[in-house]
Amino acid sequence: MQKTFYLETFGCQMNVHDSEKVVGTLLAEGYRQVESVEEAGLILYNTCSIRDKAEQRVFHRLADFRRLQAQGKKFGVLGCVAQQEGEKIFERAPHVSLVCGSASYRNLSQMLVQIEAGKRATGLDDRQTDETFETEFTARSHPHRGYITIIEGCDKFCAFCVVPYTRGKERSRTSASVLDEAGRMAEAGFTEIQLLGQNVNSYKDPSGRMSFPGLLAAVGEVPGIRRVRFTTSHPRDFTREIVAAIDAVPALCDHVHLPVQSGSSRVLAAMAREYTREQYLERIAWIRAARRDISVTTDLIAGFPGESEAEFEETLSLVEEVGYDGAFAFKYSPRPNTPALDMPDSVPESEKARRLAALQERQREVSTRRNARHVGEILEVMVEGKNEARGQWVGRTSQNKVLNFTVPAGIQPCLGGYLRVGVTRSFPNSLAGEVVG
Ligand code: SAM
Ligand code: SF4
Repeated sequence: MQKTFYLETFGCQMNVHDSEKVVGTLLAEGYRQVESVEEAGLILYNTCSIRDKAEQRVFHRLADFRRLQAQGKKFGVLGCVAQQEGEKIFERAPHVSLVCGSASYRNLSQMLVQIEAGKRATGLDDRQTDETFETEFTARSHPHRGYITIIEGCDKFCAFCVVPYTRGKERSRTSASVLDEAGRMAEAGFTEIQLLGQNVNSYKDPSGRMSFPGLLAAVGEVPGIRRVRFTTSHPRDFTREIVAAIDAVPALCDHVHLPVQSGSSRVLAAMAREYTREQYLERIAWIRAARRDISVTTDLIAGFPGESEAEFEETLSLVEEVGYDGAFAFKYSPRPNTPALDMPDSVPESEKARRLAALQERQREVSTRRNARHVGEILEVMVEGKNEARGQWVGRTSQNKVLNFTVPAGIQPCLGGYLRVGVTRSFPNSLAGEVVG
């Protein structure tokens, strides 16, 4: 009988793309992917531990399906919770037989053989590796937009963050291997490529051939590729050359995600972010001086240990000053192994929640203003779907904004196609408009 698996992914785009590679590996090993836990012989969770809530969801899932072990089903925990908790997972959830961090996915095939033989398997010892997980078997889940990992791990060790402990040492793929993958994707019909890494702009080509802006430009020049996005950029390593590449290469999208975390230089130093408010604003000025209208989004943390009211106000004022097109704001979540755990924290939970809500409210006002400037513009969208209930199509602009649109009679948009849309209305989180001839 054919072996079957079910895989559920939690967390960021890196995890979503890791799962595409894991699925490809399992299919190549003769497994078949199924849509429910009930149908599956092997149940895998690709996990996230960036905040406490994400981590708890995995243990709830494992507890929910524990009874299915009696039917001979096997369970595996992959990703950041696997790496962080290690063999402790076997104690907390004894029905689990595989625990594997992302730095060990290269060895997944051997681990599958072990668990099929009724043994337990772990992949936890590879965080110091120089190798990246490259596979020709990636099972891409989107037909037009494809992800390419260019750098794995992180060496920055921000005081609040688990990633360097869960994803291991920073290591880049060669530019030749990235460009080869981009070329194969273009041949397979993909028109949008998203380059991924915890800090893509810390990229260091092991062959020494290309800088990050050089690689961006080269991917943007692959025949057939119409859009290139990259996420996430770290402000410390963000250079003018990146802005120059966006200006010079039409396929590079008009969008930079540049997480700031806090608007206070004192808090930024405590977070070990390695830039000040002023240095961050200098980078924003480079982006604003570009010929293209580049949208800027960010990540923010409310209630970092010891953050004073005045320091929090500095974050609010930075949100105004930069004029972000969008922001993900999070309440600080204490994480195992991180230096921030040992910092004195006088900010009560209720105050952290208030700050988070105030930050989200301020960003909503700023996003509303930023979106309003598009009314009257004609923007190109990639068609992503249709909202039948509203009779609207859903597209995405180069600036990464959702643009819902109607079409004149006689035009039939196709998914993954590109259309020009006149923007007629704007909202805090989207735009609306109509296709122009
Ligand atoms: N490498 C990216 C950077 O440095 O900007 C960020 C990657 S991290 C996976 C995504 C976001 O999660 C961070 O930008 C930060 O805002 C948030 N985050 C990370 N650790 C957190 C924590 N302990 N509590 C709250 N938010 C956190
Ligand atoms: Fe985490 Fe900082 Fe690395 Fe980003 S740069 S992944 S926030 S340690």
